Amino acid sequence: MAKYARIIVDISQEKLDKTFDYRIPERLKERLKVGMQVVVPFGSRKITGYVIELTDEVDYDEEKLKDVLSIAKDSIPIESHLIALAGWMRQNYGGTMNHALKTVIPIKAKKKQVEHKSVKLAVHPMEAKNQLAEYQRKHSTARARLLEALLEETELDWEVITGKLAVTGSVIRALEEQGVVKVISETQYRNPVGHLTRQGYVHELNEEQQHVVDTILSDYEAGVRNTYLLKGVTGSGKTEVYMELIAHVTSGGKQAIVLIPEIALTYQTVMRFYNRFGDRVSILNSRMTPGERYDQFTRAKKGEIDIMIGPRSALFTPFLNLGLIIIDEEHEPSYKSETVPRYHARETAIERAKMLGASVVLGSATPSIDSYYKAQAGEYHLLTMEKRVHEKPLPVCEVIDLREELKRGNRSILSERLTELMEERLRDGQQTMLFLNRRGMSGFVSCRACGHVIKCPHCDVSLSLHSARNYGEVGRMVCHYCGYEEPEPQNCPVCGSKYISGFKAGTEKVEMIVKQRFPQARVLRMDMDTTRSKEGYEQILSGFANREADILIGTQMIVKGHDFPHVTLVGVLAADLSLHVSDYHASERTFQLLTQAAGRAGRGEQPGEVVIQTYDPEHYSITTAKEQDYEAFYEQEIAYREIMCYPPVWNLLVILCASRTEETAAEGARRLAEHAGAWITASGKKVSVIGPADAAVAKVNDIYKKVIYLKTQEYATLVKIKDMAEKFTRDNRDYKDVMIQFDFNPVNGF
Ligand code: ADP
Ligand code: ZN
Ligand code: ZN
Repeated sequence: MAKYARIIVDISQEKLDKTFDYRIPERLKERLKVGMQVVVPFGSRKITGYVIELTDEVDYDEEKLKDVLSIAKDSIPIESHLIALAGWMRQNYGGTMNHALKTVIPIKAKKKQVEHKSVKLAVHPMEAKNQLAEYQRKHSTARARLLEALLEETELDWEVITGKLAVTGSVIRALEEQGVVKVISETQYRNPVGHLTRQGYVHELNEEQQHVVDTILSDYEAGVRNTYLLKGVTGSGKTEVYMELIAHVTSGGKQAIVLIPEIALTYQTVMRFYNRFGDRVSILNSRMTPGERYDQFTRAKKGEIDIMIGPRSALFTPFLNLGLIIIDEEHEPSYKSETVPRYHARETAIERAKMLGASVVLGSATPSIDSYYKAQAGEYHLLTMEKRVHEKPLPVCEVIDLREELKRGNRSILSERLTELMEERLRDGQQTMLFLNRRGMSGFVSCRACGHVIKCPHCDVSLSLHSARNYGEVGRMVCHYCGYEEPEPQNCPVCGSKYISGFKAGTEKVEMIVKQRFPQARVLRMDMDTTRSKEGYEQILSGFANREADILIGTQMIVKGHDFPHVTLVGVLAADLSLHVSDYHASERTFQLLTQAAGRAGRGEQPGEVVIQTYDPEHYSITTAKEQDYEAFYEQEIAYREIMCYPPVWNLLVILCASRTEETAAEGARRLAEHAGAWITASGKKVSVIGPADAAVAKVNDIYKKVIYLKTQEYATLVKIKDMAEKFTRDNRDYKDVMIQFDFNPVNGF
């Protein structure tokens, strides 16, 4: 039972850092929880505040602390709920309470809300006419113009008057002082969907869709709250299911949050929701300013909207009567935060839903291994949709062995078969997409003759190539899980070929090769360079959709969620690229990307074809993606995770130690690992400690980064180790120059 409570007396955002400590009296010890609103003495007054942390240590002189007086009686305000959620996040993901609060409570805008002002007549029209005659007599033309206009239309926007009528603000104010007109001002919270036109429509659900909706709603009606995993092939109509569920929940006076990865949050998606729900919907996106985001949260709090759509952070929309959280494309790594606290939106959504009595629906065509594992274990309720709404067949998929191409003397990135099919498409006026999976460009080394990839003998992840430190030396191959190192090979250790190197082709190079090979083709390229601006991104997409190009070359950006009906060929240039990143999710990502890429072909009338080029055609993520067989992939992958003790079978905690000098970082990591080892031995728990090793990016901005990996079965044990590590590094002066961060079950490497 904690002795002290840390309290924020004013939740106005800028002051989040300003907390006060109070002693918890015996009679409140059992009941006091993070998030609760309490009454405390403050100077000579009594005020209310929120408990943001319970602790046994205070910096302040214990004697001078005052007692918490009581727990406030009112119903739970939304702030209490969000603070409690922040407390849960802090506990489960590490970091400070302040980090957590800043994540869940939006920063208040410094700028004022946009004010909407209009002007009305304040006098009877008869009197106004007399006044008008007076102005005309005195040649007060601006005043006359304004009155004339107001006699025609009883209310005018401030902007119309100062713009079209060219009447200045001071003239309006002068008339207001005379009592002739009245300025009406209302604070307007910017409505991001306000400019859209609605075309209400509702599809009648098919049998599969209806079954899913019925299952969830009958639970919901019975008061059962659950997490559902909706596994539905692309085009099976998941979005229609979401909308039907939302319609039901909101008609009962509750609210809904829909999380969609930013990249899939397209105009079309927003329109589908808007068409059905109109102004009750709002959206968030990362291009909004903090002020705009704050506005949307304010609208939610005031009850002006009941559906929020957005990426990860939309999860914290301050709805108090939340009935439903939907996470579309739940397998997307972007649902994991890469800044402290490194929370996963899926787990956090489930926690938030539990606190408020809401249901959660996770949707995907290729569920994450984590979620499918939980569904198998009965923790989530699995629902499936196997039919595409318009009964379009899935595309035909071929795998091309690039080793064979090399043997035949073709050293190009385009195989003979892919070239042939591209020629056909150009002849028939159909479109091709070429996908270069760049996620894996972290420098693995592979043999182009036999496909062999250099791996760590201890961790079964590929080694990363670090270029030579000095001229004349060879590069080093490093394992980012355990620190193992070996020199860069000159020949393949398996077949002896000299074609062993890091894979280098980028999208630009591919574009050059394609233009050389098909001079007549119109080519578009989409990658980080061509899409710096949002306009760039949308220009390329709409250009390609309007058939202004024959071939679109791109990174994963092009495989997510866009519908191009004239694409009948998708080529994956080197499927292995994502297979050999030093991350245990490599196979999972590869399977997902290949399945998604394949899903781009044949969305229109013509059937589609997919060509997957690879140096590793027997790899299960490639063979199962070819067959679009999720179950088969899952079986193999979960067996691998089991053998390697990786999540979701076990849990993994990565502790990062960062410092300005390599010695400080290394020494801090070494001592922490040692201390953790002693703690583990004493606790009798089965935990394996791996490392310290260099982080995948070992130095950023002159900050050196070391990592320690801890694997165990119970998540709760890892939380205890985090608490222990926080205490150890806080109490120990040697760590004053070492930054410590935690990542539980990392999804993007560390
Ligand atoms: P998913 O999200 O599973 O990929 P969508 O919800 O986007 O699928 O549906 C795919 C297409 O089918 C969309 O154009 C959608 O409007 C249409 N659609 C979905 N359900 C129905 C239905 N019951 N009747 C007619 N069209 C539907
Ligand atoms: Zn080889
Ligand atoms: Zn290793």
